[in-house]
Amino acid sequence: MAEIRLDKLRKAFGETVVAVNDITITFPTSAVTCLLGPSGCGKTTLMRIIAGLETPTSGEVYFDNERVTTKSPAERNIGMVFQYPVVYKGINVYRNIELPLLEDKLDAAERDRRIKDVAEVLGLQDVLYRNVSGLDNATLQKIAVGRAVARQPKIILFDEPITNVDVNSRVQLKAALKRLSKQHNQTIIYVTHDQTEAMTLADEIALMKDGVIVQRDNPRRLYNYPNDVFGGWFLGNPGMNFVQYEVNGGAELGGPLFRKPVRFENRGGDRTVSVGIRPEYVQIHPQVAPDAAEGKLLRKSIVVGGQYLLAIQLGEHTIKAKVAPEIGEVVGESVWVECPLEAITLFGEDGAKIETELKPA
Ligand code: ADP
Ligand code: MG
Repeated sequence: MAEIRLDKLRKAFGETVVAVNDITITFPTSAVTCLLGPSGCGKTTLMRIIAGLETPTSGEVYFDNERVTTKSPAERNIGMVFQYPVVYKGINVYRNIELPLLEDKLDAAERDRRIKDVAEVLGLQDVLYRNVSGLDNATLQKIAVGRAVARQPKIILFDEPITNVDVNSRVQLKAALKRLSKQHNQTIIYVTHDQTEAMTLADEIALMKDGVIVQRDNPRRLYNYPNDVFGGWFLGNPGMNFVQYEVNGGAELGGPLFRKPVRFENRGGDRTVSVGIRPEYVQIHPQVAPDAAEGKLLRKSIVVGGQYLLAIQLGEHTIKAKVAPEIGEVVGESVWVECPLEAITLFGEDGAKIETELKPA
């Protein structure tokens, strides 16, 4: 077991690119933390620094309380699996998984036990004695995972390992990763740009943007209570609705979202605030309803899970709502939109969440 602690870590490439910008975070032992963020936000750079493949411009890396910032990858004793699987050509699957174990000076029986163990979890039994040449990409990736895991390192880093793998193998690989991580109490950082992958795999998600970790939380909390507009926007399919209000330091919100005025505490004196609400929390009524504002249904489309995604015009805003299929709204006609106060997050001018409770005025 080993926790990974990063202290004021920074990595600049040349004069203009800051890939990792002053990150301080601890990745807990025996947990899968997904590092989630859009392409180019610095995920791979961060992984490479933790692995020792890249030297930070400044800041430190600790495994438990040991400073490893200047140690070589080999001295760090961690497992790594990347987007493009690394396998040794010309030998069979068994030998591929066995090679690193030879370095660890394990006896033959222990090696055999570990290889067969991971092969079973990963579903590699049938190809165990096949030459790796000619195996498909998903299988190669399983071999790479097996090889990293069989050594039972305290830390394993995965950098988008299933991006290039077909859907069925993805499900299988994800299930295997979960099982393996719990078996050996490893500290796992799993990089992905795919929110569904992160939501299903992670104990905790660290959300990354422009070289910074914006929020680290369990998947539910991150989804329901983003502390920055970025989390609201990036997570969800589609993401959160944002409706901007000019409040000029005031503390009251009205139309178009609210039929009756709503109050909040504007301690920061923000001039504009954004009301954030996820499409699935917007309630739609086909007739006039208390606390519901009238809007016009612009579009209606069917989405995954048999639900409907509605686009509704409210004043000069268009907001999205995800609803069950049985409501009989008609495109072009009026619908009544209700935004439950407890489902709303308010964001300030700087995009950060405003800590306040919304109440009827
Ligand atoms: P991600 O993995 O999230 O897609 P990366 O860590 O690969 O992001 O890249 C972060 C930023 O750093 C990008 O702007 C990328 O172009 C830049 N970058 C990464 N590696 C290098 C490098 N070796 N030299 C120069 N710029 C780099
Ligand atoms: Mg990357």
